[in-house]
Amino acid sequence: MSDFTKLSIEELNKNKNELIKRYNEFKSQKLELDMTRGKPCPEQLDLSMDLLQFADKDNYKTQNGVDCRNYGGVDGIPEAKNLFSQYLEVEPDEIIVGGNASLTFMHDTFMRAMIHGVDEDSVPWSKQPKLKFLCPSPGYDRHFSICEFMGIEMITIEMDENGPDMDIVENLVSEDESIKGIWCVPKYSNPSGITYSDEVIDRLSSMKTKASDFRIFCDNAYSAHHLTDTPDKLKNILEACKKAGNPDRVYIFGSTAKITFAGGGVSMMAGSKKNIDRAKKQLIIQSIGPDKINQLRHVCFFKDMDGVTNLMKKHAMILKPKFDAVQTILERELAGKNIVQWSNPKGGYFVSINTLDNCAKDIVKMASDAGVKLTPAGATYPYKNDPRDRNIRVAPSFPGLNDINKAMELFAICIQIVSINKLLK
Ligand code: PLP
Repeated sequence: MSDFTKLSIEELNKNKNELIKRYNEFKSQKLELDMTRGKPCPEQLDLSMDLLQFADKDNYKTQNGVDCRNYGGVDGIPEAKNLFSQYLEVEPDEIIVGGNASLTFMHDTFMRAMIHGVDEDSVPWSKQPKLKFLCPSPGYDRHFSICEFMGIEMITIEMDENGPDMDIVENLVSEDESIKGIWCVPKYSNPSGITYSDEVIDRLSSMKTKASDFRIFCDNAYSAHHLTDTPDKLKNILEACKKAGNPDRVYIFGSTAKITFAGGGVSMMAGSKKNIDRAKKQLIIQSIGPDKINQLRHVCFFKDMDGVTNLMKKHAMILKPKFDAVQTILERELAGKNIVQWSNPKGGYFVSINTLDNCAKDIVKMASDAGVKLTPAGATYPYKNDPRDRNIRVAPSFPGLNDINKAMELFAICIQIVSINKLLK
């Protein structure tokens, strides 16, 4: 395939005319396709329907006899703590199993730090003169929304295939006391799909921070969400923090949102026993306890970690052909043209695309004008501002294969037209 950056003006115009013809054909079909949010598709949700048969009139007690229909147990039922502590690779006394959304845990952990500080000895974040947070990007838009909501200044940190640029991270945190933490999605990251290297985990855990109340918000949302038989391995960050003498540095979050039901699963928060004990004391003010019935259902449904692993294999069988379709079309339409790079993730929910600079917004608009909705350009950066206007997140989990094929072909056409326009300028 021809490298667009090496074509003459005539050749570029010829390509553009053909592409515009194809674009108009798509437009006349009046498509209504949505590639925006990383939601499980109905076939994935169907995999967990048996969950609903558990916790019935004969089965509503935990193994130690606690009645799940009643109040209590702010940190979750023991069997859920046992199962999900294995899932997050921590000890049962280092986890709280909560309600239906890990994002709530993240938001509330921020809020508690703002109002009460991260431990007894530290000043509440909101009483400190200036607050900043490191945001490896492209990243998860809802993390950035939490910072924005709390008035915390966000600093964009570039990512590579190993994780955030640690030279920059180390430099910044060693000098600036107002930097209170960093967001991380360490496995099959949203949206780049990368898994942090051991070295990045070690450096995050051991780096010197000017702020004594610095925290890593480690959102392990895609811990078991493999698309291949050779899953990425993530180094245990809580262990690494303990080893480095910073046991309280990390909060870990996770949920079954994309294992069982999105919005109807269970969430978890993990960390050092000290952090977890403090969170429990504060949580009890907010709630007398989580939905234990749903926790019991989940435990009965999974039985053990093998149950989780086997279910995730079934998810992968549904998702893999969709991710493959994205790769096939991007490869067919764009390989060798030197106008775009894209990820080929081994897990998670997204494909991340980097176009030529200053093209992403125009591409997303052009696709939308022809009936294909993509995540707004910029959404993967703090303040929705991608400084190079080049990153686009594609979420192939929800639409059917036919829709993905159509949407990706149109998307690839838009990428080419906008890139040619840019090259012609
Ligand atoms: N964290 C990440 C990185 C996500 O991508 C998502 C959903 O897309 C969530 C958290 C949401 O999880 P929950 O439904 O448990 O709040």
